[in-house]
Amino acid sequence: MIYLEKVSKKYPNNTMALSGITFAINKGEFVSIVGHSGAGKSTILKMIIAEDAPTSGNVFYHSADIHRLGRRDILDYRRKVGIVFQDGRLLPNKTAYENIAFAMEVAGRQDEEIEADVPGVLKLVGLQDKIWNFPHELSGGERQRVAIARAIINQPDIIIADEPTGNLDPINTVDIINILKKINELGTTVILTTHNKNVVDALGKRVITLDSGKIVRDEKKGKYAL
Ligand code: ADP
Repeated sequence: MIYLEKVSKKYPNNTMALSGITFAINKGEFVSIVGHSGAGKSTILKMIIAEDAPTSGNVFYHSADIHRLGRRDILDYRRKVGIVFQDGRLLPNKTAYENIAFAMEVAGRQDEEIEADVPGVLKLVGLQDKIWNFPHELSGGERQRVAIARAIINQPDIIIADEPTGNLDPINTVDIINILKKINELGTTVILTTHNKNVVDALGKRVITLDSGKIVRDEKKGKYAL
């Protein structure tokens, strides 16, 4: 579904962030990308969401090279990818409901669909009692749940979560990971970055370990795939 082929990225200041990264992610997988700060995790995600282009190598979504798509096709592709950031990035002047409704409006969904879908997705993430709270009236963990609800509301093929638990305590971390697991079990591919070893150990799913822009391990359920 996603295939990175010999992807290298050198930033304009000559930092070699990625060196010849090759891996494939199949539909329905839950893949964690781990590594120390500066290992290249965020850069890989930027390559996958086409926010930045590789210096060499290719990134495919099914058979399409996403860095060769036209503007319209890029927008179509981005609609298939839901993103959750470490800091949630909710709109501060909109309630939980309105944050999600807004994502649906931008995607051109009708009012009836919005009214039908938003309460259900907030229930899925366990926030049915906080629908009308503004972000500042929610805890960090609750804000991340809204961010996840917003990322999945338009039924993307893939959820990309960039250190979604980076600012959370251990209990909220477990909750967020369990929600991502549930979404994965419902059929969505999940790509997660984290530097938290406990998170990936608890998941028991595939882990790609990066060090200085290279894959040093690609391990699926205890077996080395490299
Ligand atoms: P991680 O997400 O694992 O912390 P990053 O992908 O953010 O790692 O960074 C990988 C390397 O690239 C680091 O050395 C970082 O300093 C560098 N880097 C990241 N973004 C940029 C940028 N926009 N310009 C220059 N160097 C960058």
